[in-house]
Amino acid sequence: MRIDLHTHSHRSDGTDSPAELIAKAAAAGLDVVALTDHDAMSGWAEAQQAADEVGITLVPGLEISTNFHHRGVHLLAYLPDPAYAPLVAELDRVLDGRTSRTPAIVAGLRDHGIDLTEDDVRREAGGSVAAGRPHVADALIRLGLVADRTEAFVELLNHGRPGYIGRYAAPVEEMIPLVVAAGGAAVIAHPWGRRGGTVLDEAALSHLRDLGLAGIEVDHQDHGPELRARLRAIAANLDLVVTGSSDYHGLGKVDHDLGCNTTDPEQYERLMSRTASRR
Ligand code: AMP
Ligand code: FE
Ligand code: FE
Ligand code: ZN
Repeated sequence: MRIDLHTHSHRSDGTDSPAELIAKAAAAGLDVVALTDHDAMSGWAEAQQAADEVGITLVPGLEISTNFHHRGVHLLAYLPDPAYAPLVAELDRVLDGRTSRTPAIVAGLRDHGIDLTEDDVRREAGGSVAAGRPHVADALIRLGLVADRTEAFVELLNHGRPGYIGRYAAPVEEMIPLVVAAGGAAVIAHPWGRRGGTVLDEAALSHLRDLGLAGIEVDHQDHGPELRARLRAIAANLDLVVTGSSDYHGLGKVDHDLGCNTTDPEQYERLMSRTASRR
């Protein structure tokens, strides 16, 4: 059984439609795939229909933008009730915060001499539920100003660069219980990826587990072999589920092909047992 628990469609910042993503997952030999768009559940219906057609299992999920000690933490939520109003309200707040800063980002870049408009960004956001920095990056690529998203972030969009504007993210200590109340299972995505580094140490993860955290994503492209080994040891100490996933974004991220990391079937079963549908 090949299981990939973290992928993005164009409902957030991936480049495939949910149906295309599912077709590619089946072609890549996956048996189980989770669709986890940023702060959005809008791709579930289309993905479910496609999964039924090709005969693979869809795990409906999302990746929620949260904060922990002023650092961004991505929280994967699997199988929450999409109609649970407190969760929906919080996600709307995050999505509004993302979209509403586009004018400020564009203004910051224009001050820096970059001739970019809000319409350019909106056009790239297309079928997405919100316009975020990846869409600003795509607009900059189309203008020929940067080669790819990574260059756009490093040069212009990361903290401290001219196009950086902060936005709302939900406190992770509130979001984990909210996901559990919605019947879902919560997993920290790439806990030591990018700038995550030192914030989520064993003590912090232990605290989050006590709040209802079910697992951590260990096998992820942002983690090298040594980090993976250390995270695996922490998961064993804390009795957390270990997941592995691609964090596929279509053409939006290189070296994140579907199935490049996978989740052990036993760990997958443990994770599913933490959702209301199995409790
Ligand atoms: P935003 O939600 O607008 O703050 O944008 C954050 C999203 O941008 C993340 O969830 C990533 O998918 C994407 N992202 C962040 N850093 C990079 C990078 N260096 N290269 C490509 N995509 C990135
Ligand atoms: Fe993303
Ligand atoms: Fe992430
Ligand atoms: Zn992701």
